[in-house]
Amino acid sequence: MLKCPNCQSKDIGKIGINQYYCWNCFIELSLTKGIINTHQVEEDGTLSSLDDLFDEELRKFSS
Ligand SMILES: [Zn+2]
Repeated sequence: MLKCPNCQSKDIGKIGINQYYCWNCFIELSLTKGIINTHQVEEDGTLSSLDDLFDEELRKFSS
């Protein structure tokens, strides 16, 4: 089960292939090679990476 690295919420919606959205803190998550990448959607619709905020250990996804 995917868990948000930011808020630990499991309220994650799927928005595309390997793309997810956290309904709790409103960040976008994508899954690449078992690592969760985190993005914030800016007001103009662009994505900015939040990966620097989280340890890779936190972003590992194991199913
Ligand atoms: Zn979250």
